[in-house]
Amino acid sequence: MRLYNTLTRREEEFAPEGRIVRMYACGPTVHDRFTIANARAFLTFDVLRRYLEFKGYKVIYTQNITDIEDKIINRARELGVPPQELAEQNIRAFFEDREKLGIAPPTYQPRATEVIPQIIEFISDLLERGYAYIVDGDVYYRVRRFSGYGKLSGKDLEELEAGARVEPDPRKEDPLDFALWKASKPGEPAWDSPWGKGRPGWHIECSVMAQSTLGETIDIHGGGADLIFPHHENEIAQSEARTGKPLARFWVHNGLVMVGGEEMHKSLGNFEYARDIVDRYGKEAVRLFFLSKHYRKPVNFSHEAVEEAQAAVERVYNLLEEIEASLSSGPGIETEAESPDPAFSAYLDGVKAEFEQEMDSDFNTAGGLGVIFELVRRTNAFLQVAGPEDQPLLRRAGELIRELGRPLGLFQEEPRARRRAIIAGTAGISAGLEEGLINLLVEVRSELRAKGEFALADRIRARLNELGIELRDKDGETRWSLKRLPQGQGQ
Ligand SMILES: [Zn+2]
Repeated sequence: MRLYNTLTRREEEFAPEGRIVRMYACGPTVHDRFTIANARAFLTFDVLRRYLEFKGYKVIYTQNITDIEDKIINRARELGVPPQELAEQNIRAFFEDREKLGIAPPTYQPRATEVIPQIIEFISDLLERGYAYIVDGDVYYRVRRFSGYGKLSGKDLEELEAGARVEPDPRKEDPLDFALWKASKPGEPAWDSPWGKGRPGWHIECSVMAQSTLGETIDIHGGGADLIFPHHENEIAQSEARTGKPLARFWVHNGLVMVGGEEMHKSLGNFEYARDIVDRYGKEAVRLFFLSKHYRKPVNFSHEAVEEAQAAVERVYNLLEEIEASLSSGPGIETEAESPDPAFSAYLDGVKAEFEQEMDSDFNTAGGLGVIFELVRRTNAFLQVAGPEDQPLLRRAGELIRELGRPLGLFQEEPRARRRAIIAGTAGISAGLEEGLINLLVEVRSELRAKGEFALADRIRARLNELGIELRDKDGETRWSLKRLPQGQGQ
């Protein structure tokens, strides 16, 4: 597999030793629920992990939770709750929303507040090696001491220094230096340290959690492109100053989510919560929407685009359902009279390799989906002309769609059960179909009565009654209510 490495600015062959991949991706800062922009980063690395597993690798995946940070403290103050309570609440929400999106839990999910002793040990080490200094209970990283600073982002130190000098902090030796440890102000969460009470900076958390769960050099470090500088640059400076070894072989970054040409960001107020979008369109629509773009490119978010993705998901499930129906209505006996269509059979033979070729080319999920949708298109066409002898081919086509959908987290549900759940409103998508359908029947019945077709109108009323829905006609209007909870009506 070839993968673009932000560090070297080119595609490289990704071939970890021993079929084991150690991957770290930056997780949420739990000051709020996560947005659809955050969802893209979580999804990208969920799918990269699934695809590496599909290729036979064992993936050890760590994603951190930042549960102590300025944003959490500030938001907690606004809401008038203790910061740790707000963090706990949003960690629970993070787990819920992640599950809604069909994102698998990582192998390790450490929280910053659980690794404070390791953070203190790490900072002590940097102090000892001359990479850090203490000022009034704060500890800063001495950026100029680390010769590789700027290698990930390609930034030039003088340029950075000019930018940092705009608001200089006279306590720092150099405007470029960043905080490893922050002395706590009264009322803030604080931990004891050799430098006084305080809390860790954001960047050091990731260095510590990556190293403590995955070792000194990992295979892939991931995150959104907005984290390249300063967060990932600082992680490199911290970790490599301590170990003298590369922190990560590959740096992989997903592109940003845009709204009308602007970056979607909490601070700009142009964001949508991920859960609201999933509740409306379903997790597979959201996954398909992001995966149909190249992960490194920015993507424009719009409701229309997710709606289109939803329609595409339905097309696939409709085909899977049709295949099932045609298999179960078929003769069920292998007819030897004719052999299966050789052209379609040969095409199916090559589909998986085509899919992998796309995915192996810098994790091109858009290309991989293109192969799946071509398979869907051709299978749909084949279904129209397929004879009984083609049933094994249809079954294989359906299995292939599912097999290739698996690393993308798509098309894994049983189509009929899924459709029933959507109609019943239990699929987690607020379709509201049931109520709409009852209203439609009531309307049709009223029109039939108006036309004098009482027999048919009465049949609708009687059938609804059997289903537990009672109609009452009053003053030329019909109202309906539930006589009892419907039970076991669906087949
Ligand atoms: Zn991080």
